[in-house]
Amino acid sequence: MKRTDPLPTNLFPDALLKSLGITSPRDIDIEAIAFYVGLRIKRRCLKCCEAMITGRGNRGIISVVPGGMPQRERFSIAHELGHWAHHRGETVACRATDIGKFSKTNEVERAADQYAANLLMPWSMFKTECREHRRLDLKSLKAVAAVFNTSLTATLIRMVDSELYPTAMMIRHGTGGRKWHRAAEGVPGYWFPKADLDRESFAFELLHNPAAQDQGFPRKIGADAWFDNWAAPRHEITEQSFRVPGEGVVTILLLDPHMVG
Ligand SMILES: [Zn+2]
Repeated sequence: MKRTDPLPTNLFPDALLKSLGITSPRDIDIEAIAFYVGLRIKRRCLKCCEAMITGRGNRGIISVVPGGMPQRERFSIAHELGHWAHHRGETVACRATDIGKFSKTNEVERAADQYAANLLMPWSMFKTECREHRRLDLKSLKAVAAVFNTSLTATLIRMVDSELYPTAMMIRHGTGGRKWHRAAEGVPGYWFPKADLDRESFAFELLHNPAAQDQGFPRKIGADAWFDNWAAPRHEITEQSFRVPGEGVVTILLLDPHMVG
């Protein structure tokens, strides 16, 4: 079908959603949005990356490796759209480790991740949904992720960033130790999690015992299980861990409000 309508010039996520009349999370059809801005999606095997974008003029092609989790694929497409909005004219190839990690060192990849989060989980809709859940735990995380059709990791990052859960922190561990963590904005930097998991922690069990199940409910634990800080033994926090296939274990911590205030 030949397309005759002009391509949009403002590619900011809010502007795109507005011009498409999208007001509900279930209407955020990432492939339709990509088409709207002049991009086609191709699913094909890529040698050394998970997704890439190539373009000429104002048309381009996003290639993604087929067969991944649908939520992950949506984020990858939105991430490439972010490169199109921010880094037009460049051919960008992104490895799995570049996408969705909000890199602290690679500004280009971080900008594309931020764009993807803003497009798939726009703040106004996202905060409205989060306000249905007083507490950040695995149950509310799954509920919000289902509404936005986004991965648990990407959704949790957004919930931690939302300012609605001021004591929240998330930590991801692999078999080699702590990979990264992210805390709500007001959490002081001296609450920096230990590199290695406490052997008594649920997360340790999840990481090393394939038969272990995700932690059904949050549980209280001494803050010194997670932090070396001298004041840690004085505080009690809440932990809840779950497995992310292929990535390791993610833990949601809710700190004692006195640790933040
Ligand atoms: Zn990228």
